[in-house]
Amino acid sequence: MKPSPLDYVRATSVDHAIELLASDNDARLLAGGQSLMPVLNLRLGAPELVVDIGRIDELRSLEFADGDVPATRGVLRIGAAMTQTEVATHPDVNGRWPMLVAAIAQIGHPQIRNRGTVCGSLAHNDPQAELPAVAVALGATMIARSVRGERSLSADDMFHGAFTTALEADEMITAVEFPEPSPEQGWSFREFSRQPGDFATAGVAAVVRRNAGSIESRLVVFGLGGGPTRATLIEEALLNAAGPDLESSVIEQWAATLDPVDDAHTSARSKIRHAQRLLVEAVAEAWERM
Ligand SMILES: Cc1cc2nc3c(=O)[nH]c(=O)nc-3n(C[C@H](O)[C@H](O)[C@H](O)COP(=O)(O)OP(=O)(O)OC[C@H]3O[C@@H](n4cnc5c(N)ncnc54)[C@H](O)[C@@H]3O)c2cc1C
Repeated sequence: MKPSPLDYVRATSVDHAIELLASDNDARLLAGGQSLMPVLNLRLGAPELVVDIGRIDELRSLEFADGDVPATRGVLRIGAAMTQTEVATHPDVNGRWPMLVAAIAQIGHPQIRNRGTVCGSLAHNDPQAELPAVAVALGATMIARSVRGERSLSADDMFHGAFTTALEADEMITAVEFPEPSPEQGWSFREFSRQPGDFATAGVAAVVRRNAGSIESRLVVFGLGGGPTRATLIEEALLNAAGPDLESSVIEQWAATLDPVDDAHTSARSKIRHAQRLLVEAVAEAWERM
């Protein structure tokens, strides 16, 4: 199928893009098009205006802001026109944000990653997408602009249910900032998909670190139907843990809070079993890397 009739404008600057967004209640941004084009072609959406932000020079940036005092970690700032491949193949990203690189490697196929943007994936918030979960695990911040001004959105506040975020209809993400993981932090990224390149059936992004005698963690589960979700029961159980082994009663208690639905390929029960296994594996791996 082909999209419904629409107007297409290639924005020349961020100001131009947000003015166009504000001018039409039914406008949508186009970044890499890897999610929006299927939506248009299948007529799951029919915006009047599509605003292409893929060639705005000021959004094609990858910046490393190093902390200005020794104890402060650096920040990776990814502009909204940077593709997933451009981010993952940058040598400094590879060395300092390994979870981001590991997660991008799991997204679809190279052709998808060569076009799809990091910020587009965050804005889209597909429940099976890797990057919203990584953003929550690493404590990322989204920078959103509209004609009303600019604001920062923490990943904890950004992602609501499936395909739903805290962004207003007239806002665009101009960049996302990932704080640099601290050296004493362990991480793991694990997912199960039916075959390489498929969206995840279930996945876990895990970060653990020792702090003043206790274990702080951010354990984020995705693929089960809602947005990325922290496994807070397990995070609490880890606080005073001496090792990564989790009691099965705690895992079962946490699993009872999950509420996936059956789909054409996988039953809800199977999804829960995958999530339980991946969580146990991810905690063990992150602990080992701590
Ligand atoms: C065959 C196939 C397999 C795929 N497999 C995976 C997978 O395994 N994992 C995965 O995570 N993704 C997968 N994807 C999706 C892919 O990662 C997309 O690139 C990504 O979800 C969206 O990025 P984009 O730049 O293409 O955004 P677009 O498709 O251009 O836009 C997506 C949505 O986000 C909005 N948007 C885009 N940029 C911004 C912005 N800066 N500010 C505000 N709103 C914005 C758009 O208006 C639109 O609603 C797959 C896609 C295909 C076609």
